[in-house]
Amino acid sequence: MIKVLFSTTNKHKIKEANETGKIYGIEFEQINFPYPEIRDEKFENIASDGVKYVYEKIKRPVIVDDSGIVIDALNGFPGTFSAYAEKKLGNSGILKLMKGAENRTARYISAVAFFDGKILKTFVGTVEGEISDEERGSGGFGYDPVFIPAGYKETFGENPGPKNEISHRRKSIEEFCKFYVKFKEYQEE
Ligand code: IMP
Repeated sequence: MIKVLFSTTNKHKIKEANETGKIYGIEFEQINFPYPEIRDEKFENIASDGVKYVYEKIKRPVIVDDSGIVIDALNGFPGTFSAYAEKKLGNSGILKLMKGAENRTARYISAVAFFDGKILKTFVGTVEGEISDEERGSGGFGYDPVFIPAGYKETFGENPGPKNEISHRRKSIEEFCKFYVKFKEYQEE
C-alpha cells in the first residue's frame, strides 16, 4: 500500500477516499491541519491554496479536498460556502429556500489538491442530481439526505450504496490515484 496524507477534519471524506484508494493500492491517512479557507467561487482555488498552507506546516506531500453543492435555482449557492450554509441553515433551511422552485437540479463538486513542495495538482469530480422535496434517509453526511443523484430515485442519505461508484469524490480521488501511482513509479526510476 502507498500511504498518502489527507488533511481533513471530516472522517466521511477519509472513509470515501479509502474505498476508492484501495482499488489503486493507496491508503489515505487522516491528519488534521485545518487551513484558513480563502474566499473564492472555485473549489480548485480553495483546495490549491489550502494544500500549500498545510504543506508549509508539515513539509510532507499531502492532499486536501474542498467540496460542496451547487444548486441552480439558487444561482449556484451554497457552492464554496457549503460547509457554512450547512452549519447555519442545515438541510431544512436549504429546502425552505427551494420552496416552489421548479428547477431542482444541483451538483456536488469535489476538488482534491496535491502538493509536495514542487508539484501542485488539482483533480475535480462532479456528480449531477436534484434536490429532493424533503429530507430522506440518514446515511452519508451533509446534504446527502436531500441529494438525489441523476438516474436514481433515492437520496444518497436513503441509499449511500452507489455513492462511492458515482460521486464527485469518487471521481476526484480516482483521478488523483491514477496520477499518483504513475508519479511514484517515475520517482522510483
Ligand atoms: P469543506 O470541508 O470546506 O470541503 O466543506 C464541504 C461541505 O460541503 C460539507 O460540510 C458538506 O456540507 C458539503 N459536502 C461536500 N461533499 C459532500 C458529500 O459528499 N455529501 C454531503 N455533503 C457534502
